[in-house]
Amino acid sequence: MAITFSKITNVITNTSFHQVNDVLVDYLLTDSRKLLIPSSTIFFALEGNNRQGISFVTTLYHKGVRCFVVPQNINSHFFDDLPQANFVIVNNVLHALQQLVTHHRNQFNIPVIGITGSNGKTIVKEWLYQLLHYQYKIVRSPKSYNSQIGVPLSVWKMNAADELAIFESGISQPNEMALLQPIINPSIGIVTSMGSAHNEGFTSMQQKINEKLLLFTQAKFLVYNIDDVLLHDEVNKFKEEKNKDLKTITWGVNENATIKLINTEKKNDVTSIELTYYNNNVNFIIPFTDNASVANAISCFCVLVILKVDAASVAPLMEQLRPIEMRLQLKKGLHNCSIINDSYSADIESFAISLDFLAQQNQQAKHTVILSDLLQTGVEASLLYQQIASILQNKHLYRFIGIGTQISENASFFKQIDHIHFYATTNDFISNYQELQLQNEVILLKGARKFQFERISSLLEEKVHETQLEINLNSIRHNLNVYRKLQAPGVKTMVMVKAFSYGTGGFEIANVLQHAGVDYLAVAYADEAIELRNASIQLPIMIMNTEVAGFSKIVQYHLEPEIYSINILQKFIAFLNEKQIKHYPIFIKLDTGMHRLGFDESDIPTLCNILKKTNSVKVVSAFSHLVASDAAQHDDFTAHQATLFLKMAALLEQALGYTFIKHIANSSAIYRHPTLQYDMVRLGIGLYGVDATPFIQQQLAPVATLKTTISQIKWVKPGESVGYNRNAMVQQNTKVATVRIGYADGYPRLLGNGNGKMLVNDMLAPVIGNICMDMTMLDITGIDANEGDEIIVFGEQPTVNNMATWATTIPYEILTNISQRVKRVYFED
Ligand SMILES: *Cc1c(COP(=O)(O)O)cnc(C)c1O
Repeated sequence: MAITFSKITNVITNTSFHQVNDVLVDYLLTDSRKLLIPSSTIFFALEGNNRQGISFVTTLYHKGVRCFVVPQNINSHFFDDLPQANFVIVNNVLHALQQLVTHHRNQFNIPVIGITGSNGKTIVKEWLYQLLHYQYKIVRSPKSYNSQIGVPLSVWKMNAADELAIFESGISQPNEMALLQPIINPSIGIVTSMGSAHNEGFTSMQQKINEKLLLFTQAKFLVYNIDDVLLHDEVNKFKEEKNKDLKTITWGVNENATIKLINTEKKNDVTSIELTYYNNNVNFIIPFTDNASVANAISCFCVLVILKVDAASVAPLMEQLRPIEMRLQLKKGLHNCSIINDSYSADIESFAISLDFLAQQNQQAKHTVILSDLLQTGVEASLLYQQIASILQNKHLYRFIGIGTQISENASFFKQIDHIHFYATTNDFISNYQELQLQNEVILLKGARKFQFERISSLLEEKVHETQLEINLNSIRHNLNVYRKLQAPGVKTMVMVKAFSYGTGGFEIANVLQHAGVDYLAVAYADEAIELRNASIQLPIMIMNTEVAGFSKIVQYHLEPEIYSINILQKFIAFLNEKQIKHYPIFIKLDTGMHRLGFDESDIPTLCNILKKTNSVKVVSAFSHLVASDAAQHDDFTAHQATLFLKMAALLEQALGYTFIKHIANSSAIYRHPTLQYDMVRLGIGLYGVDATPFIQQQLAPVATLKTTISQIKWVKPGESVGYNRNAMVQQNTKVATVRIGYADGYPRLLGNGNGKMLVNDMLAPVIGNICMDMTMLDITGIDANEGDEIIVFGEQPTVNNMATWATTIPYEILTNISQRVKRVYFED
């Protein structure tokens, strides 16, 4: 719903403004990468952690954006340099955004459902959508947009045609909910599971609950689980003090529940749920068996009761609930394709997000989009597909495939793309796609549910067994930023992507790092770097283990070799001379105590002499490596290494007559030895989510999750044994699950016989017996589990650190040992 710039200057208080003309604004932008329609966009230059929104204003202006909300301290030359731009100048850009959207919210008088809680918010939101979208035109938060920025961006999507709104809100510290309340102003509230920990930024569970309840100060109804005693007490106090008219719809086994849970029964893949309310009995089945899903489904049921949904329609709807995939997935495809699967929701905003991700993938030069009809956008079809075609205009697509009758009718808008194909149905595509000969392409799949694009992705994907390593690309970015914040201004970042980025991936990780603007990459061997170059990674790359046989490849692929001995230096100079190459960039490795590779202090005079006499190389950097930067008991030795390094580097600089980049700090040194950051740091294990310092470890997000599945469950009787060599003699009836991972996948054999544990439906189950090559048996006695269930080997819990400890090794070895047979799948929220 559009609003004029003049109106915006009225709505946002405490401002000054600079207006050249009156623009009609339709889109709010906080992340410059998500720009859709420049002419009707207003950009909020938020002050972020590592990037200031203000630094994107000029670029956005040149892309056609004409309206900006900026902080007061901006330089007035902006007004002269960007003559067509309109500015709102405010104290606090975030508050301005929130104020504008609060005004927007107040235009609507439809039921608004507000969801908060610690777990399950997004699922409940999406399930409510699945249950209610037949009856209502619904607007809801995209993905899990529930933050101080995400909430206003979600609520802004409300428009005149909507009949019901569903928004989630998440807070991480006190005082945040008070800001979100007026923006959502829900009439129906839901508190999902509160969890048991008060982690986050709260001092107690009680404080956390009270903060979250503040979302409901104006609500008419509140849904929550009465069996959570603390929550129940706090809701009662909240009603008394803040909202006397609030009607609570509680559920649970407690006698006093509005909706009483009589029974749940799990069989195979479903749970049947029996409830009573207002003297009615209700039975339904959900296609899930975990307790969280049961709780979420009942919360949804309570909302159906509030909305007076016809009781007879409930059971069939519940039976069709589907799991939620909110993340983008990147997988290897057949015929050297990459497949990006975005089956979340098919709307124009989330399409823009996936296009941005597609643009980052340069491992294959050809980019292809497969898009279905977009349903329920509220925009007229011809206008919608015209908009989509214009968004695609600058994306250099090789191929566009439209599936659905609507998009096919609007095929003419896509003429400017070289290869276009349209199919009326997914079946049509599946019967004919072989003719397209898809190969060497990055293929983005984006389809509305109804089009069942999962059938297309399973055709195009490489098939591998069910054990997979999931890599969260958002966590990679998050962790990079954790260290960037610790780095002094101006300190460069080299990221170690050796050994397939510590087991997590090749170009997939390098693409993210290139996009995030790191300065250097480093690998152990030239072959690793060549793979990255072949995937269009242009960042400078250092090769640590320089080999004579690799010289020509190093030069051919513009790689920068680590030179660690007089011998290798002389050979490299001879090679360059023969090719008549001058000033080739090299890294000098200095040995200050590791005694692995590098020049000793006694080599320096000879080294200087050689370097002074040649112009075939140019020293871009000298560095050394700390042997125990994570260990307090060796801090004296670390200091000694640093002093020796600086001394040797100074001698080199003196002899050469120029300076170069100096670095010694690996991940754990970045925080523990900030004075050793010098010109650059070399980030390794920290990027992948592990740091020796607990204070930093806490801030890191887990990157890799190793998952497998149960192939069979059986009961083993006392006196029997499990696995090779009869190592595990069973004492009592034991429930054993065989899972699809063994030492050939990188699950160490040392973890056999109870040493290792895996997470089975939220419970840790010990390994029973010896680990086999391709399989492992778990003792799951007392754990509710079914064949086919997913098992977490490591991830959020147990962590890769836990697993390393159990195997008496370090997380580096666990990560890098996961075999290539284990499929890597990349996710992005
Ligand atoms: C692997 C490596 C690093 C990174 O070490 P982390 O402990 O993973 O941060 C840094 N420098 C060199 C020379 C390395 O080989």
